[in-house]
Amino acid sequence: MNFKYGKRQIDYEIIYIDRKSMEISVHPDKKVVVKAPINTNEETIKSRIQKRAAWILKQIKYFEQFNPRTPTKQYINGESHLYLGKSYRLKILPGKSRNVKLKTGLFLVQTTDKENRETVKSLMTAWYREKSYFQFTELLNNRWVVKFSKENEKPKIVVKKMKTRWGSLSDKGILTLNSELIKAPKECIDYVIVHELCHLIYKDHGSKFFKLLESILPEWEKLKHKLEMALI
Ligand SMILES: [Zn+2]
Repeated sequence: MNFKYGKRQIDYEIIYIDRKSMEISVHPDKKVVVKAPINTNEETIKSRIQKRAAWILKQIKYFEQFNPRTPTKQYINGESHLYLGKSYRLKILPGKSRNVKLKTGLFLVQTTDKENRETVKSLMTAWYREKSYFQFTELLNNRWVVKFSKENEKPKIVVKKMKTRWGSLSDKGILTLNSELIKAPKECIDYVIVHELCHLIYKDHGSKFFKLLESILPEWEKLKHKLEMALI
């Protein structure tokens, strides 16, 4: 089954099951699945899908930014990997120890186990994790926290892989940032941090929230767009 939304054709699959209500979900592989009660007719399903079309497309686009048109990373020599918005070519070197560093456009990974891509992957993942925490904390503490002196206490940073958002701020003041952000330019990370810090003052996305965001980061919309583009 499929439907058109704007210029886009979106395929979906219907699963009839013993349940009372309909549920639409978009999977990370961009598959759209509708779970419907056994006797639902197709027209009802279609009209429900149409109503949710904007939401469905938003989910698809979200997953697209993590599922680039380029194939998934192989962790082999010559492959490019992003760090703070710049692309580095991976160079795997044999060595007695394990070490990761960036040098003149290269992502140098030294490993005792040169042929093992899993080892290279885990070394790089650990490196990214460490850098994310360091860079995000620096940006928060040195640049932005002073602008939000209202709370007078720094949010605690948690970095993790998140499927559906760039960041979030809990009631307890924990700022969670998506680990993927370390691949984006610094000013895009700023945008996410500032957005979340604005939630220290306004919980929702009302007009006051955007006024505050705009006063601190007038170019936020441009940065948001840049972020979405950067991680394709
Ligand atoms: Zn928000």
